[in-house]
Amino acid sequence: MSETAAKETLGFQTEARQLLKLMIHSLYSNREIFLRELISNASDAIDKLRFLSLESPDLLGDDATFEIRISADKDAKTVTIADNGIGMSRQEVIENLGTIAKSGTAQFLTNLTGDQKKDSQLIGQFGVGFYASFIVAGRVVVETRRAGQGESEGCRWTSAGEADFEVETITRTTRGTTITLHLNDDCEEFLESYRLQAIVRKYADHVSVPVLMQSSKPNDEDSATDGAEDAFEVINKATALWTRSRADVADEEYQEFYKHIAHDFQDALTWSHNKVEGKLEYTSLMYIPAKAPFDLWNRESPRGLKLYVQRVFIMDEAEQFLPLYLRFVKGVVDSNDLSLNVSREILQKDPAIDSMRSALTKRVLDSLEKLAKSDPEKYQQFWEEFGQVLKEGPAEDFANKEKIAGLLRFSTSSSGSETQNQSLASYVERMKSDQTKIYYVAADSYQTAKSSPHLEIFRKRGIEVVLLFDRIDEWLVSHLAEFDGKPLQDVARGSLDLDSESDGTEDKKKEPAPEHTELLKRLEKTFGDDVESVCVSQRLTESPSCLVVTEDDMGMQMRRILEQAGQAVPESKRIFEINVDHPLVKRLALEADEGRFDRLARVLFDQALLAEGSQLNDPASFVKNLNEFLLEVAGE
Ligand code: ADP
Ligand code: MG
Repeated sequence: MSETAAKETLGFQTEARQLLKLMIHSLYSNREIFLRELISNASDAIDKLRFLSLESPDLLGDDATFEIRISADKDAKTVTIADNGIGMSRQEVIENLGTIAKSGTAQFLTNLTGDQKKDSQLIGQFGVGFYASFIVAGRVVVETRRAGQGESEGCRWTSAGEADFEVETITRTTRGTTITLHLNDDCEEFLESYRLQAIVRKYADHVSVPVLMQSSKPNDEDSATDGAEDAFEVINKATALWTRSRADVADEEYQEFYKHIAHDFQDALTWSHNKVEGKLEYTSLMYIPAKAPFDLWNRESPRGLKLYVQRVFIMDEAEQFLPLYLRFVKGVVDSNDLSLNVSREILQKDPAIDSMRSALTKRVLDSLEKLAKSDPEKYQQFWEEFGQVLKEGPAEDFANKEKIAGLLRFSTSSSGSETQNQSLASYVERMKSDQTKIYYVAADSYQTAKSSPHLEIFRKRGIEVVLLFDRIDEWLVSHLAEFDGKPLQDVARGSLDLDSESDGTEDKKKEPAPEHTELLKRLEKTFGDDVESVCVSQRLTESPSCLVVTEDDMGMQMRRILEQAGQAVPESKRIFEINVDHPLVKRLALEADEGRFDRLARVLFDQALLAEGSQLNDPASFVKNLNEFLLEVAGE
């Protein structure tokens, strides 16, 4: 072994250093969580070894009982957390403790504001982890040996949590990891065993591995003798939380368990804990986080449940149990039927997994439904964080389309705010007695949707319209033909048949009145092949003109998204609708000069494009034409 391999000083990765610094500052008021994080890691390490030992029992040697030991040394002012889990090789120590592997970390960090209060919220999204040690310790020493490696292949990692850390190869007789925290002066409370015990009970009762501590010795004569000093006792419940019955688990315990498995810092919003018996036997405990992780939109970021088979941890991020649109769900599933050596490949093929997947999917949707009913405010919080993801549902999960549709929330023309908080069911409740369709308008922004000319007739008739302005919305409605038996109808598409939904207003006829045919003809001549057709609008009451998509054409929002993504989109022509009651259109009809007729007609056409948020083909001409008419007004 070379000299440098024996002992070297290495710098923390920039991201790791930034995160470390931030962590120390922002979590100071909640510093006891360091212990939670270290126990969480120890328990993960034991889970991993237990799993590997199924195939390679030799890894365990003669030490097959798993445990985590915590002790404090008042003289040295140290707290030590030791586990006999998987341990780390030297290379793993350098990677795991010196860098942050999560993709997107750098970007996450650039989003930090420097405002510690806000940033500590963000840290929560990231998960706290091992670096929490430095909240209480000025120096941290990690000694570890990977299970299966020789005694001479141990490794010691030391750092003061600043720019760098030291690693050296050491001899270590036992596998697993021992972490020694040299406490800061103002953290001496953590040397008291009653304090440590209280923290363990608070945060680690759910940990399925026994957590042992030296029993706090009563001050009797026995305590002076050496023998009593080694008396360790188990201080947590040490049974897998999900195996307990719901009634026996307190909300706080559910929350602590959530933080452990989700590597989250904040409480979950809600959870669903179920035992299934029958042909397939399994237990699931699934959580809805309160906050979206920073990498929610990264397609590669890990997702899925933690899989256990008969209480034995098998793998993290088992994706097969939930569809992609529920990727925000965290939790565990523990199966009694799967084999202990199940692999991801097997999971993909096993038909039993399919039926578990549909049952688990339904559970999540049910628990969201329940939340929406019992606590609309919390549900709204969920929606703000994950609504966009849920909107992928109808396209991905045909079987649950209606259920998902019931969970969607929108802004509408009557809700008067950008906040998406109206369900389709509440829309249907408010529908006019003879209204048969659910109307929507899609645009690039709330503002554009809200003030779309297409809404004019609906406003006049008091018909509510759903406002769609998220990128995914047109994709969503293209997979959601109806809700509650009511078809969804784009107000900017095809001919509007509002007459069947009349409020007594006199019907406008389908055939244009003879006095308009001349105008329509002239307009058709102006636009020629640029438009599908020109017709008298039944939609407009205030605006002079608008553009409509034909029945089978792609919506404009979807078209723009595809174009932005560089995809070829088939040419399509729009229907140009004019409002014959509008003074500008009346003026147009009277225009004798063909050149001026053309220019005014083009201004109306371009205005219609602008109103729906589209780009003009020739903005300079628009400005020039418009100015011509403005000057005319000014001159008059
Ligand atoms: P996380 O637990 O979210 O992965 P941490 O910062 O808590 O992040 O830990 C970083 C990594 O260090 C872990 O993923 C694990 O690989 C390694 N690690 C930490 N503690 C231990 C331990 N006690 N035994 C083995 N590996 C550990
Ligand atoms: Mg951790």
